Amino acid sequence: MARTVVVETPPLPRRLFRVFVELEGMYRNMVEQLTMYAVREGVASFTRLKALKYRELRSLYPQLPSHYAYTACQDASARAKSFLRLKKKELAEREHPEVNSVSIWLDDHLWRASGLTSIEVATHKGWIPLEVIPHKQYWKYINRGWRLASEARIKLDRKSRKLLVYLTFVKDAEEHRPRGFVPVDLNENNVTALIDGTAYLFETNIGRIVLGYYYRRRRVQEKYDKLYGVKSRIKRKILKKLNERRKKLDARWKIANIIVREASKRGYAIVMERLGRRPAERMIARMSDDQLRHRVFQAAFRGVQRAIEEKAREHGVPVVYVDPRNTSRLCPVHGSEIAYEDGSRVGRCTRGGEHWHRDAVAVWNLLLRALRGGGSSAPSPAGLSVDGSPVPLGSTAAHEPTRVPKALWARRKSLDATMNS
Ligand SMILES: [Zn+2]
Repeated sequence: MARTVVVETPPLPRRLFRVFVELEGMYRNMVEQLTMYAVREGVASFTRLKALKYRELRSLYPQLPSHYAYTACQDASARAKSFLRLKKKELAEREHPEVNSVSIWLDDHLWRASGLTSIEVATHKGWIPLEVIPHKQYWKYINRGWRLASEARIKLDRKSRKLLVYLTFVKDAEEHRPRGFVPVDLNENNVTALIDGTAYLFETNIGRIVLGYYYRRRRVQEKYDKLYGVKSRIKRKILKKLNERRKKLDARWKIANIIVREASKRGYAIVMERLGRRPAERMIARMSDDQLRHRVFQAAFRGVQRAIEEKAREHGVPVVYVDPRNTSRLCPVHGSEIAYEDGSRVGRCTRGGEHWHRDAVAVWNLLLRALRGGGSSAPSPAGLSVDGSPVPLGSTAAHEPTRVPKALWARRKSLDATMNS
C-alpha cells in the first residue's frame, strides 16, 4: 500500500529558491526531450529509454547529480506511455506530447530524510537541507507505522517561493484475508453498517444538509451577482465562509472513522456498493426526477464513500465492492422479493412473510454478496449460510436496525462510547 502526502516548505530565501528554479529548468528540458524522443521512436519503456539516452543526458548537464538522468527517464517514460495510450484510443488532443506541469522526481540518491520534519535534496549546488511543515495527516502516517518510500517529488510554487514536497508513505499490505465483513449502505439520510449481526443505522441527514447548502450558495450567488457583478470580492468572501462552515459541519469523516475503526478492530473488510455511472439511482428512485437534486445527491454519496475509503486506507482496512443491483429488493434469507408499501421503509417478504427494514435488507445483501464473491474463507456471522441457501435468521435484530441518532454519534469517537451513552 502506498499513499502520497504533500507537505510544504516555508518560503525560501531568493537565492536558495533560484537553485531549484535552475534545477527545474534542466530537469524539464531533459523530460521534454526524452518524452518527444520516446513518443517519436515508440520507445516508452524506462529501461530502454535509459539505455539509449543516459550518456547523452549526462553530457548535457554534467553538473547535475547523475541520478536525475534516471528519474527524468522514469518521468518521461510515464508521460510517453500515457500519451501513447491516449493516442491509441484517439483521445490525445495534440499530435505531440506537451510537458506542461513538471514536478522533479527524486530517487533515494537524490533526497533523504534528515529528521522528522526536514529533508535534504541533491542539486547541482550540492545537498540542500529543507524544512517541511508537517500537518495532522502527515503525523498520522508517521505514528501509524507507515514508512517513507525511497521516491519523492518536488514542485515549485513560484508565487510564494515555496516547495511542495510529495512524499510517499508505504506499508506492507497485510496478506491475511479479512476475518469478516462490515457492509455499509449509504442512503439519503442515513449510513447503515452491519457489525457482527447488528445493523446500525446512523442518522446523517446528509441529503438535507447538502441540499440546504446548495440552495444557500445559489441564493448568495444570485443576490451578489445582481448587486456587485459576477466577480465581486464580497461574494467570494461570503461563499468561502459558507464553505468553511459546511466543512465544519461535515460529519462524513466522523462516521467514516467510527465504521472503519470497528472493522479495523475486528480485522474485517468493509463492503460497499460499487457506485457506477449513475450511482445513486436506487437511493433517489423515490424522489422527484429533478436533475439537480440528483446531481447534488450523487456528489454527496460519493463524498461519504470516499471518506470511508480514505479512512480505510489509513487503517489498512480492505474495501470490497459488490454489485449494487436489487440490494434492498430481495430477502436475504429467502431470495424472494420484498414487498414495500408505498413510501414505507419496512416491507414484507413475499415468501416467508417476515418484516424487513429496507436498510437492514441492504446491508445483509451486501454481506451475502461479499461472502459469495472472493472472501469465502470468512466465517458466516449470525448463521447466514455462505452459499446463500435459506437459513432463517434467529434474531429479530436483523430485521430492524438499531437507530443511532446523529446527536449521539457525532460527539463520540467510537461505537462503544456512543452505545454506552
Ligand atoms: Zn424472506
